Amino acid sequence: MSRYSLLVVIILGLTALVVVLLLVLRKQRKKVGVVNSKNFVSTSTLATSLRDEKLRSGIILNAIEDGVVLIDGQQTIQLFNPGAAKITGWKSQEAQGLDWASVLKFIDAKGQEVAADQVPITRLFQEGQTIKDNNANLLSKSGKSLAVSLVVTPLLDQQQHVTGAVAIFRDVTLERAEEQQRAEFISTASHEMRTPVAAIEGYLALALNEKVSTIDARARDYLDKAHASTQHLGKLFQDLLTSAKAEDGRLTNHPAVLEVGAWLEQIVSDLKFTAEKKGLSMDFIVGNNTTIDASQPDNAVTTGKVLKPLYYAHVDPDRMREVVTNLFDNAVKYTESGNVSVGLTGNDQVVQIYIRDTGPGIPAEDIKHLFQKFYRVDNSATRTIGGTGLGLFICRKIVELYGGRIWVESEVGKGSTFFINLPRMQTKQAERLKTTEAQSTTLTPITSLTTS
Ligand code: ADP
Repeated sequence: MSRYSLLVVIILGLTALVVVLLLVLRKQRKKVGVVNSKNFVSTSTLATSLRDEKLRSGIILNAIEDGVVLIDGQQTIQLFNPGAAKITGWKSQEAQGLDWASVLKFIDAKGQEVAADQVPITRLFQEGQTIKDNNANLLSKSGKSLAVSLVVTPLLDQQQHVTGAVAIFRDVTLERAEEQQRAEFISTASHEMRTPVAAIEGYLALALNEKVSTIDARARDYLDKAHASTQHLGKLFQDLLTSAKAEDGRLTNHPAVLEVGAWLEQIVSDLKFTAEKKGLSMDFIVGNNTTIDASQPDNAVTTGKVLKPLYYAHVDPDRMREVVTNLFDNAVKYTESGNVSVGLTGNDQVVQIYIRDTGPGIPAEDIKHLFQKFYRVDNSATRTIGGTGLGLFICRKIVELYGGRIWVESEVGKGSTFFINLPRMQTKQAERLKTTEAQSTTLTPITSLTTS
């Protein structure tokens, strides 16, 4: 090859190399360019959507009337929306950064501070579960009592540890005041109506008394019916009055140390004639702890444990008598034949009373409604047997007053057992408290009327 041809080949080769290099470079630049622009697009979209999201949440949090408070794991308020500010009187900027307990002060219906371990937010941090309280009261910044309905939800990490909480609450002061007015109306009306009804019942009883009045058989029959209906009406007014009081916490209640064994035995001996009159056999069973419902936390069952003979509870004996009498009357009322038993048992924590009958039983679908106001099972028995549907509601309210629980186990066609669990007081503690109670009720005689 000539020198000239060799030069041409070299030049062509170099040119081709440069072209290839340029092409590769261009392609590379293009590639980089595309990726960058793609990245740019997605980042900006994300930023916009996050901004939108934040904006939207902000709009919602600012617009809703409910109070929303975000509390972190250090118990500090991280977010206090305008709703919370409006309800409590705290400005959002003031509340944010403070310990929640210095802003959200929980009080009871009487205006006393709620015990620390009963405050819903404290309980949430201890229990790690959502807490709902429709009867909570908060103290506003200016010291005003606010009725609130509250839900506190935990924020959990992957190990299910509580890392914070969201409290949502609503001011229900107005609703609660209206509810109070309704209850007051029912209570006043039933109180006023009870008096004339009692008078009518008294006069009808006189008319039916052979020693006082002379009436023929047909008139007796009419008056008997009128008397029974008036008694029913009187019971209805009495139950309405009691349930209205139970609902707004005005139920007179004087708890004292009670040895349930002796007390229940006395009630049973007073009541047994009602059962016997209807031809039902009746028994009183003490000390068989197999019936305690272990599904509830208050009943740590200690099967096989020797039962102590004394079952102490801190309750009002008259109120609890109402409960037992009501359950016993129901057992007799709804049982056509067979047996009614009253039982007492317990373990270290619980005193359990039960009333068992061999009556018609209660269908499973009715059981969950049974302790609600005015609930009656709709069957032939209840259609013919009079009742108000308030008895079990009142029983529940009274039992709950003492931190107890009432429930029923029943099988249609076989009978029902109503259980009451009351917190058991240890004998030593009960005896100590009994002495204190006795001392506080002993009046110091007045020996002198001078003040000096
Ligand atoms: P009532 O005045 O209707 O007896 P309660 O509140 O005492 O009201 O009882 C509610 C309903 O529960 C009754 O209407 C009845 O249907 C049912 N009930 C209560 N006790 C028993 C029982 N021992 N056996 C069967 N049904 C019962």
